[in-house]
Amino acid sequence: MGNIVCKPSTGILFINTMGAANNKTQKFVFDRESSAREIQEQLAIAAGYNRLCSVVVRSKTGAIVAVSSTMGKNTQNDPYFVEPGGYNLSANDVIASTVKEIGKQFRQTFMVEEIKKDLYGRVASVESRVEKDGKRLMEMEKYKLDLHELRNSIYNKSHKTLDYNRLRPSVTLPDHFYCPSTEREAVVSMQRDIPAYNKYVLTHETKEALKTLQFDVWQWEPNEMLILMEEMYENLGLLDELDIHPATLKRFLLRVQENYRNNPFHNFRHSFCVTQMMYVLIHGCRLYENLPKRDLCVLLTACICHDLDHPGFNNTYQINARTELAVRYNDVSPLENHHCAVSFKILAQPECNIFANLSPEQFKEVRGDMIILILATDMARHAEILDAFKLMMDGFDYSSEDHVNTLKMILIKACDISNECRPLLVSEGWVDCLMEEYFHQSDMERKDNLPVAAFMDRDRVTKATAQIGFIRYVLLPLFEALNKLFPELEEIALLNLRQSLIHYEKYKEIEDAKKKILALNEPSEYQHTEDITK
Ligand SMILES: [Zn+2]
Repeated sequence: MGNIVCKPSTGILFINTMGAANNKTQKFVFDRESSAREIQEQLAIAAGYNRLCSVVVRSKTGAIVAVSSTMGKNTQNDPYFVEPGGYNLSANDVIASTVKEIGKQFRQTFMVEEIKKDLYGRVASVESRVEKDGKRLMEMEKYKLDLHELRNSIYNKSHKTLDYNRLRPSVTLPDHFYCPSTEREAVVSMQRDIPAYNKYVLTHETKEALKTLQFDVWQWEPNEMLILMEEMYENLGLLDELDIHPATLKRFLLRVQENYRNNPFHNFRHSFCVTQMMYVLIHGCRLYENLPKRDLCVLLTACICHDLDHPGFNNTYQINARTELAVRYNDVSPLENHHCAVSFKILAQPECNIFANLSPEQFKEVRGDMIILILATDMARHAEILDAFKLMMDGFDYSSEDHVNTLKMILIKACDISNECRPLLVSEGWVDCLMEEYFHQSDMERKDNLPVAAFMDRDRVTKATAQIGFIRYVLLPLFEALNKLFPELEEIALLNLRQSLIHYEKYKEIEDAKKKILALNEPSEYQHTEDITK
């Protein structure tokens, strides 16, 4: 040992690393100022293990020698044996904290990536929003200009108000309104065939509701209305009575539907309403008790056909504009004659002829009745027909052909104008439709220098005034006359009619109040419009 020079603070040990490679004794020098932990680590390295590997030091006898800076000296022949003893606790802590640290750093790295991504996303969305807002701003400017233009176009200078009626474009193109040519009538030829499968099945509830005026006629699509019409024929036993093949009825109804035009008012839905009203009366007034089934069939069918191919312009227009229809029918109910003629053009097709199985005599009678009923819907004949009916009312005789014919005429007339007998929610929409059709006609008349009727003039008529006059002077007298023969009508129709009158009277009060306010603001302007209405 003498040949080894070392500082007093240096410790020397002879160690034998049994387990490690080169099982041999070696000299281990350590600093006595080192901590036990540091010496442990140096021993582990010297023995060929990982620095963090806990080593156990034993004497020759196997006794454990505590590792410390004060470890006693030994000799080369009596070395300490250094064995691996697994990772110590503090080493575990170091590993754990290292792993934790690495994890943290990983997470932070990922978080940075995420934050970066998030930021990129936000920046991109802000950029696109700025771009969109820019575009929107430009669009808004454009809308502002459009609105300004629109406002100018509906501004009524004399009233200093906006006339919103001018915002509603007519559904039908102007040239579609003119009287049909023979080319147009070719539409009557078969266009579509009926579906071979059953498309709709009506519930018991629907079938029952169909017999009442609470039935909301706006809720049904054209195809559904066809099925509802079929149900009426079925329910009244008309298919059996007149030996109508169900497919023929379907084709007939389909052809009728195709030959109604898309007018604001005189369209297929109007035909459905009139027919449904007749169905309500047949049930509500028990018409089936006094009228034969063939009459019920004529009543329903006449309702279905009564406005066929209506051009959206009334008889007065046809006559004043000297349309082809007026010329053809010599100014006598040109429209009604046309509706009737189109009906029989449809019935002339064997696959649509629901009267095909009647005898020639019966067909002649049915045809005569259909013509009488459809021609009776010309309002120019209103007073004439109502007066005739009033004369018969007291001693009404169901065995008199004359009486029954007049009753049937009154019935189809009542159905034709019966919208106001329905609940207001259902009926009010029809007023707008009718006024739209009227305004369209009066605009056209003004353009063509034809006489304009006051009740069609958008500057002279209002919804309330039109309705009050019509209910009071046309509808109430008509339904009150019918009511004498059918007391059930009080509940079915008259209650709603009176309510409707009250509704429009209130409506008019509001309109008048608005006018007064306008008059206060602009006395001279109001005076001007007052003069016009007188
Ligand atoms: Zn009608």
